[in-house]
Amino acid sequence: MIRATTFAGKSVAVFGLAASGNATVRALLDGGAQVAAWDDSEAGREAAAKAGIPLVDLQSADWSRFSSLVLAPGVPLTHPEPHWTVKKAKAAGIEIIGDIEIFSRERAAQCPDAPFIAITGTNGKSTTTALVAHILRHAGFHVQMGGNIGRAVLTLEPPARDTFHVVEMSSFQIDLTPSLQPSIGVLLNVTPDHLDRHGTMENYAAIKERLVRGSIVACVGIDDDYSRAILKRRIAQGAACAFSVERKLAPGYSLDGDTLVCANRDGLAVKLASLRGIGSLRGAHNAQNALAAVAAVRECLNLYGRSSEIDWQGAVTSFPGLAHRCEEIGRRGKVLFINDSKATNAESTEKALQSFPRDVHWILGGKPKDGGIAALAPYFKGIARAYLIGEASDAFAETLSLGHVPFVRSGTLDKALAQAAQDAGESTASEPVVLLSPACASYDQFKNFEVRGDAFRALVAALPGMALKVVS
Ligand code: ADP
Repeated sequence: MIRATTFAGKSVAVFGLAASGNATVRALLDGGAQVAAWDDSEAGREAAAKAGIPLVDLQSADWSRFSSLVLAPGVPLTHPEPHWTVKKAKAAGIEIIGDIEIFSRERAAQCPDAPFIAITGTNGKSTTTALVAHILRHAGFHVQMGGNIGRAVLTLEPPARDTFHVVEMSSFQIDLTPSLQPSIGVLLNVTPDHLDRHGTMENYAAIKERLVRGSIVACVGIDDDYSRAILKRRIAQGAACAFSVERKLAPGYSLDGDTLVCANRDGLAVKLASLRGIGSLRGAHNAQNALAAVAAVRECLNLYGRSSEIDWQGAVTSFPGLAHRCEEIGRRGKVLFINDSKATNAESTEKALQSFPRDVHWILGGKPKDGGIAALAPYFKGIARAYLIGEASDAFAETLSLGHVPFVRSGTLDKALAQAAQDAGESTASEPVVLLSPACASYDQFKNFEVRGDAFRALVAALPGMALKVVS
């Protein structure tokens, strides 16, 4: 738990009382601040009151006494419209920040040279963050991981010289962290996303850029135009390195076949690790994540003069991967079962279909998103059969018919799995794959994608004769 000592004696409004909001209140109180906490949801307020959090109705409060508003990252700052607390804070002329800003100030005040790796990007943030933490732990370093993944940042141990803080940041969190100055700032990629919350693509990219602008060393993926332009500007400001899955870089981090390499300006390349056969890092998208992770760790160790021998291959090979993202559940005979429940749109499912190009028994559907699955037509030739569930069934059936993909309307996940497991078991292919990659939100049949993925995992585990993957 981090104490927010830089707020001692101040009066702070906190809005949004889910996990990170509650941790913020605790950190501020422990640091000696006075806190006025509030949430629009009555259930949220009740839970907070039970946890001993001091509630103040911020609608009727006197805002002139607050020094800051700490906002949960899910609360709109600018688009589609500023939240009412944002309007009140602006009218009172006070700063609007998030919990990672409190962390940043505490680090600056207590231990400014504590290693701090911040990671952002439109896609791959969680995988990269988990992999960075895994590589560092594998090498014997003490790691604290959190932010947009796992634990709220203020529940972690305080910044210290012998502790590596590895923090995933969404664009909303960057927006609320004006003094962000990580040791290493990682930007994976920038593609259109969350424009409802950031207005324009330019605004969204500018927020992402802030994370690398403030860092001592920036590591930037240059496989999209926005990120390339960001690196160009960043190089002019100081230490930066690039990584790419699409081209060979010297200097920079790139691929030699399926091997992660780091080259210097003269083209002299060090081979770090091969990705061949690593189930948790299949596909070009994961190669980008792996390059980002090795770049971040290597640059961070160099920065702090801790270039101990790293067993890159051992670290990368032992990465267990994250649940619900092309997660290998296990095998039954030659059939491989994959849970990609996090794929809630066609763009994410595309990554799974790229990673499994043939003999796929594809379970898909749910609450459909705009655009459906038409963009996935180039991958249809690799589908042995599709199994449709949920509200999207009619629309997807039409697209699959046009693409000549055999399909069945299974309706529910349990029926879909039973049918897919049976078909795949009878397949003559060398490695048939049963893949849940819904390309849809889950809300029509499940609470969220995690619950959907957990249900799938449990159904697969219950199949007779399954050999489940052992995660060490
Ligand atoms: P995030 O935390 O940014 O949402 P995750 O690591 O949780 O990203 O991955 C979520 C999904 O995004 C994956 O299942 C995959 O479909 C896709 N994805 C992961 N990494 C990348 C990448 N580097 N580029 C494009 N898509 C990716």
